[in-house]
Amino acid sequence: MAITDKIYLKNHRQIASQLGTNIPKSAFSGATLDILFQGEGLMKLDDATQERVLDFAEDFLDCGCETNPYCGHPERKFISYLLELRAQGLGPDAIVDVMGDDYMLYAYAGDILSFLDDSVRTLEAAEELAGVENNREMEEKLSQAKRDLSR
Ligand SMILES: [Zn+2]
Repeated sequence: MAITDKIYLKNHRQIASQLGTNIPKSAFSGATLDILFQGEGLMKLDDATQERVLDFAEDFLDCGCETNPYCGHPERKFISYLLELRAQGLGPDAIVDVMGDDYMLYAYAGDILSFLDDSVRTLEAAEELAGVENNREMEEKLSQAKRDLSR
């Protein structure tokens, strides 16, 4: 399962009660995106929730693809967001706090930790491949990215 399948609506129960309908907990589930972003769903939310949902839409659902939000960009953007927070020196617990403040989302710190570990391993594999291919520039870039995530 991708990490984006493990990102949840922090105030899921309030949102469901404001909408008057049950929605999945997972923020990136198709049904959640449909209800929150493509209909009157948004208007039914209280101001504070609406604001975070709009921030989320602006930051992750803004790619303008015809198939948006099912084009894969929202998930990829969210992954970059997580990696940026890590590169800023935040640990899994702090990352969970920040996504709560920014977008009213939460995840389990353990899931974030394994996602970050996987990312470092993916970079390591890519770095090795670049080494085999004698692509020094790419090798150095990947090595730097790895150091940023490993601090
Ligand atoms: Zn897109």
